[in-house]
Amino acid sequence: MNIPLTRPSPPRLSTAGAELRAIEQRGIFSNFGPVNTEFEAAIVEQLFNGVGHCTTVCNATLGLILAIRQAIAHQQTGQKRYALMPSFTFAAAAQAALWNGLTPLFVDIDPITWAADPEEEARLLRQHGQDIAVILPYATFGYAIDLAHYEALSQKHGIPVVLDAAASLGTLTAAGTGFGTGSAIPIIFSIHATKAFATGEGGIVYSTDKSLIQSLKTMANFGFGRPRNATMLGLNAKMTEVGALTGLLRLKSFAKIADRRQTLMDLYRAALPELTFQPRAAFRQSHQFASALLPPGTDRATIQARLVAEGIGSGSYFSPHLAEQDFFAETCPPASLPVTHDIASRIISLPLHDKMKNTEILEVARALRACITDKGCLAEIRYAAE
Ligand SMILES: *Cc1c(COP(=O)(O)O)cnc(C)c1O
Repeated sequence: MNIPLTRPSPPRLSTAGAELRAIEQRGIFSNFGPVNTEFEAAIVEQLFNGVGHCTTVCNATLGLILAIRQAIAHQQTGQKRYALMPSFTFAAAAQAALWNGLTPLFVDIDPITWAADPEEEARLLRQHGQDIAVILPYATFGYAIDLAHYEALSQKHGIPVVLDAAASLGTLTAAGTGFGTGSAIPIIFSIHATKAFATGEGGIVYSTDKSLIQSLKTMANFGFGRPRNATMLGLNAKMTEVGALTGLLRLKSFAKIADRRQTLMDLYRAALPELTFQPRAAFRQSHQFASALLPPGTDRATIQARLVAEGIGSGSYFSPHLAEQDFFAETCPPASLPVTHDIASRIISLPLHDKMKNTEILEVARALRACITDKGCLAEIRYAAE
């Protein structure tokens, strides 16, 4: 068997000769060119019901850095400055905060959704409210977290919110619209090759706030508010025309791809009753890979090694979680994260590809179940207790 964790299949540029020649003939290769403009309009039209605005960025991490910067631009500096975020997320969020001179303050997660626990957020806001510069939630693995909660939290405390929804492009809410539709909170999506909306490198920042999106565009272009005249802090985060073309091509088949990935995820749910999954979305959750919790007491490293021996790749996103990673352990204050520790210790990421066959899912499930029921895969402590 050869079933890797991910098998990126972005649109095939080798079959897009005419579109590539058109870019060459135009002679515009970047700087928010016509293909980029078309891509941004198509994203809003097709994924957000025509509501709101977006800008492309060359990757989601730079999108996070710019959106955080924009959110805190008018705040007083000098105090202790925290970015409130879950530890159960990808390094990019903490790095983006640190690049903005902020210190990540880790909040524990909910045991069911694996996203930031609202009660723990409230506790940390009571304790550190004055020192929190930005709230940085994560829509965990594409799960449609409650955006109204964050809009209310932002209002109540007067603290801006920036949402890392890197893996969420394609998630639909109960209204059947794309996750984030109608939200003024800047939402950052990734279109990296390994995400469900696969291109190569790229990101989208969405918001209903037109001036916010315009200001991010300016920041992403050296802060040039006027021609060759920097009017604000900036850097270069522009998407190339070829990148935008790849995105436009992906849009054509994306609804089918996202549906297929959800179907594959449902197969895992049915075939692996021993595992714990996030609650199933009523409509659609975008899935980058299949995330699930192993039963308590199983030894993940042994299970993963056995899967490798059968030619099956897997991962453990996000273990180590941020507070456990060397650099963040050095730079961030210690936090109480019992649920994060439990979830991270049991999480396993299983293969999911656009073109994966049902039988491949069943093969992965069979191999995994064989491990789980084998005493050799139980952790020492559990084994001794029996
Ligand atoms: C993939 C990912 C990112 C980074 O996206 P890039 O486009 O690769 O910069 C950030 N946060 C989370 C949660 C991710 O999964």
